Amino acid sequence: MHHSTEDARLLDELSGAVDRGEIVAYFQPQIDVHSGHVVGVEALCRWVHPHRGLLAPNHFIPLAEENGLIHALGAFMLKAGAGQAEAWHRRGFELDVSVNVSALQLEQSAFVELVAETLLAVSFDPHHLTLEITESSPVETSVTTRASLEALSSLGVGISVDDFGTGHSTIDQLRTLPATEVKLDKSLVQRDVEPQLTEIVDNALHRGLRVVAEGVESAEHLEHARELHCDRAQGFLIAPPSTPEELDSLLARQG
Ligand code: C2E
Ligand code: MG
Ligand code: MG
Ligand code: MG
Repeated sequence: MHHSTEDARLLDELSGAVDRGEIVAYFQPQIDVHSGHVVGVEALCRWVHPHRGLLAPNHFIPLAEENGLIHALGAFMLKAGAGQAEAWHRRGFELDVSVNVSALQLEQSAFVELVAETLLAVSFDPHHLTLEITESSPVETSVTTRASLEALSSLGVGISVDDFGTGHSTIDQLRTLPATEVKLDKSLVQRDVEPQLTEIVDNALHRGLRVVAEGVESAEHLEHARELHCDRAQGFLIAPPSTPEELDSLLARQG
């Protein structure tokens, strides 16, 4: 990959970012479409850069994947996500937590062990954790990745297919992966509901998959989620990715 000097500097700074505590977890709530209650959160990483302010993942995840820091970053996000969710559980908020994982993490055979150890360390119930993977074509899914996904399922961890509808994922792929959830990409949620999509979602629901609508920015988008019979909705209409403290007030209001 070609790097500008800008990227080269960022890459250099990124190397120590996890150790320096500059990577933090934000959380975006997910509501149950029927009750409107917050039932889960997605952990999303941010880089509190000393000079550039808060950086979104698109500025540094590709770099982290390239320089190998994605493993330390991913381990941190798992612990931060499960740890924060456990803290909420202890205060009576039984939220599920979703953590994004890179395909590179699933390629490492030690990843499953890392997940198991992290859950144990923060005493978090695996059934409340879902790992979000961005779809790749079935041929790209290696033997190691498949084995990792199967082992994670056996632990009780949920597997979500993120950004569904943007790439190669088909309903057939969903059949071959031990998925428990599908996250409909915002491009599907934000446009008028098409019969073909209704059919795909019905099929997923029929097979016991949880369906989450992403990118719900307006009442109309939430209506699309309802029309599609999605279980959960996530988006700026409900709340942006927020700090745990910011979410505390939202949770307190909901009682
Ligand atoms: P994603 O997992 O699909 O996360 C959803 C993205 O959509 C987030 O962007 C979120 O802030 C944004 N979003 C939420 N609601 C709305 C909405 O109503 N409208 C629109 N237009 N966007 C909305 P963010 O936080 O910038 O993250 C971007 C991507 O970076 C994520 O997409 C995920 O693929 C990746 N990512 C984030 N955190 C991690 C991480 O800890 N590890 C890895 N490997 N990837 C991560
Ligand atoms: Mg995600
Ligand atoms: Mg997504
Ligand atoms: Mg519409």
